[in-house]
Amino acid sequence: MPKRKKSTSFLVLLSGVALAALVALAALGNVKGISGAGLRATTQAEATAVELALIASLTPSTATATTEATATPDRPPTETPRPTREPRPTRTARPTSTITPTPVPTATHTPRPTPRADPQGTDHYWFDRPIAPPDDNNVALFYPYASTGQGQYPVHSGVEFVNTIGVPVLAAGTGTIVFAGADGDPVRVGPPGREYDEDGSYYGNAVVIQHDETYKGQRVYTLYGHLDRVAVSVGNRVATGDKIGEVGSTGVALGPHLHFEVRIARNSYYDTRNPQLWLKPFAGNGTLIGRVIDERGDPIPEAYITLQRPDSEIIGRYEYSYAEGNLVNGDDEWQENFVIGDLPAGQWIVAASVGDRLITRQIFVVEGQTTWLWLEMPRDND
Ligand SMILES: [Zn+2]
Repeated sequence: MPKRKKSTSFLVLLSGVALAALVALAALGNVKGISGAGLRATTQAEATAVELALIASLTPSTATATTEATATPDRPPTETPRPTREPRPTRTARPTSTITPTPVPTATHTPRPTPRADPQGTDHYWFDRPIAPPDDNNVALFYPYASTGQGQYPVHSGVEFVNTIGVPVLAAGTGTIVFAGADGDPVRVGPPGREYDEDGSYYGNAVVIQHDETYKGQRVYTLYGHLDRVAVSVGNRVATGDKIGEVGSTGVALGPHLHFEVRIARNSYYDTRNPQLWLKPFAGNGTLIGRVIDERGDPIPEAYITLQRPDSEIIGRYEYSYAEGNLVNGDDEWQENFVIGDLPAGQWIVAASVGDRLITRQIFVVEGQTTWLWLEMPRDND
């Protein structure tokens, strides 16, 4: 599947641009070290600027350039992100390669009984992708919802679809346009009350759709930010797949991409949910979600989560649990603090670690559905 290959190479690129794919494991270890608060940028605007410079440097063509010496880089290599912190000591999270129904955690404490009853969540994959093939309709892995891009950016209120300027942006579902134009004129759809660029615009040209269906009696909105062109007006009716604008880099964006949000109840920056729980998974894929918690049941922010097939040494995906802060929200029913979307169905070994604390589980991801996983971190070694 070209889609999956692309994501994997993108991930390898992110985790250590200068490194060959086969040392990706080591790079992933390094990456963990970056997540400290010390690297967090001081203002949202600065951070976002950095973020978008990164986006610009991570387009697929540049990705090729950085991994193949023969290609001509179109950006200076200094723009590429690189893990800089000290390597983590022995990465013990890698489970054995044999298929075992219950992987034994390598942590020294006695495994606790498998956690409480699962929450009674319900899937609501209402929306189509706002980008259609052959353009890139993958959610960018390096800066998913509620992540900080490993400590470098503000907590993310949406997801990115990295594409070139002019790529059509499509309505994710049927509804009515309630905002179309420059963020801040007259309404601000980005973070309220703050100025982020000379126009006071955060999302630049943006569109917000209020969808026809309500969710638990609440309004449901999708937002499309940083557009180059807006193709609709307030009051227009749109159907799923209608063109509403074009990808751009307006507002606080240095590189072209679509920023996509799902907002519940209020059309507000503070009322977002994880779009990956609302976008239909690709065929053959499902969604893994859950909570990484401590022994008191409290969520652990930015825990490092890896996924491997039971018979493989390769880390197929990695992710972090949601960052702290009140900018992002769990699903109304699930109340998750991590999501790994567009995950190929089947068996996976999931390992979550914080410092030297580690937990592993084996799970089965069902195509087209949400699979729930509790990860209760063992106590620290004393
Ligand atoms: Zn974004």
